[in-house]
Amino acid sequence: MRDSEAKALAFVGSRLVLRETAQGLRLPTLDEVEAAFERERLEVGRVDVRVTLTRRQVHTFCFDDDEPLPAGYRCDGLRVAYHSLADDDFRAAGAARQIIEWRRTTRFCTACASPLVLADAHDALACSSCGRLHFPPISPAVIVLVQRGEQVLLGRSPRFQQGVYSTLAGFVEPGESLEECVHREIFEEVGVRVQRLRYFGSQPHPFPHSLMVGFVADWLEGSIRIDEDEIEDARWFHADDLPVLPHPMSIARALIEDFVRRVG
Ligand SMILES: [Zn+2]
Repeated sequence: MRDSEAKALAFVGSRLVLRETAQGLRLPTLDEVEAAFERERLEVGRVDVRVTLTRRQVHTFCFDDDEPLPAGYRCDGLRVAYHSLADDDFRAAGAARQIIEWRRTTRFCTACASPLVLADAHDALACSSCGRLHFPPISPAVIVLVQRGEQVLLGRSPRFQQGVYSTLAGFVEPGESLEECVHREIFEEVGVRVQRLRYFGSQPHPFPHSLMVGFVADWLEGSIRIDEDEIEDARWFHADDLPVLPHPMSIARALIEDFVRRVG
């Protein structure tokens, strides 16, 4: 039976199509998208991604960057769209975007160089020659709030927007535990040792396919000595005197807000 409230995740390039309504922006329903876009465009754009949204099937479309939008629609990058979307919708959009982008850039088997085709399950791709399955990559990274009493250690990368400081983060290396990664990354980036690691939570980060694993740690010893290849500044900030913080959707922001609540 057709689900009349099924939602549509439609991308124009890397941007998400949103419905403009009197109440603001939201994901369009499948019915709305089918009424607004030409049928043949939808057939070309339809992609088979198994993202579900609170147990509803989501219909996924991907158009070229120059696809014209019908009246009443706009499209935003995911970081901007975050402000318009419910958490579940944003998570589904991130998952779909991650899989679509991986498929777009993963076209040949890494073992035998034959073309890949859609596999029967798990959003995987299968080699058309040797049958090897290829799964969407997920790259675990730790992200760590280091605290010393009412102070927090934040750093900034040259890639950040002006004035923004954030918690320290880095990718897990082969053979490394998450805890070992925390100790190594913190020491490499800012030259301090930490203790008493506490797991905070995790967050999929679809830019392009990270899984951020958040920790809180206490400063143990050492003064800040930055790795200038990685970051351009790092400082201790008092909870009452914080710099510009990272995007509200980020686990970094959640870590910092949690710290402020705990010491406030
Ligand atoms: Zn192959």
